[in-house]
Amino acid sequence: MNLLQDKVALITGASRGIGKAIALKFASEGANIAFTDLKDDENMASLVKELEGMGVKAKGYASNAADTEETAKTVAAVAADFGRIDILVNNAGITKDGLLLRMSEDQWDAVINVNLKSVFNFTKAVAPIMSSQRSGSIISMSSVVGVSGNAGQTNYSASKAGIIGFTKSVAKEFGKRGIRANAVAPGFIITDMTAQLSEEVRKDWASKIPLHRGGTPEDVANVCLFLGSELSSYVSGQVLHVCGGMNM
Ligand code: NAP
Repeated sequence: MNLLQDKVALITGASRGIGKAIALKFASEGANIAFTDLKDDENMASLVKELEGMGVKAKGYASNAADTEETAKTVAAVAADFGRIDILVNNAGITKDGLLLRMSEDQWDAVINVNLKSVFNFTKAVAPIMSSQRSGSIISMSSVVGVSGNAGQTNYSASKAGIIGFTKSVAKEFGKRGIRANAVAPGFIITDMTAQLSEEVRKDWASKIPLHRGGTPEDVANVCLFLGSELSSYVSGQVLHVCGGMNM
């Protein structure tokens, strides 16, 4: 029996990277997949095709997760197209790194809006649907730097720490309606996002990881599968680190 048979999952920012790996993992366990990304481009079209090839229903929605109005419209469209939403994965995220004294207001606002406000936008729009179903799992992508901080990432760390406080509050507000909310804190995962870092920085990070390797998007997707499925039916308000032991 598949772990997510006939469930409907909505995943933000899923045309590539970790979001895409989550979409494929969930589909491999029988879930129908609605996903968003900024643009309706080749990546979106090819993921829809790949998911449909796995025998599930799939649709991509071009939507800026930082935009509250656009998000409400997107969630309404997903509910109309799929009939329900069982799992929300707040995955969309960006970095705009820089030391604090050189960080512009635009760098700060962009990262807070895309990483943190998006989580408010999607959770607020999906919560009434899950409430009426009396069940749901909300998974939000934090980061180890949201727990430990990181020089050069005050904006990103603040957004990811904000997700943790938000998740715990949602778990407390909505637990009585059968909705669970958890955060995932990936460490160093090999995607386009970390490809922007220099070779030196990447080697330095890998040497500090007890498992001595960067993580894969699938490593993160496996933990999301646990949180999205009934295997985690008594897990809520938690932060699960997926970092090869880097954060303990
Ligand atoms: P990625 O490869 O850069 O992919 C990010 C995805 O989010 C892309 O599909 C991107 O769309 C989409 N996106 C960006 N802004 C958006 C917006 N405003 N609205 C909707 N979609 C948007 O990143 P990743 O490494 O897979 O990271 C995924 C999540 O994990 C992020 O929240 C990130 O902070 C978190 N994380 C990553 C790592 C890591 O080591 N990689 C570690 C900890 C946490 P486009 O294709 O249109 O740009």
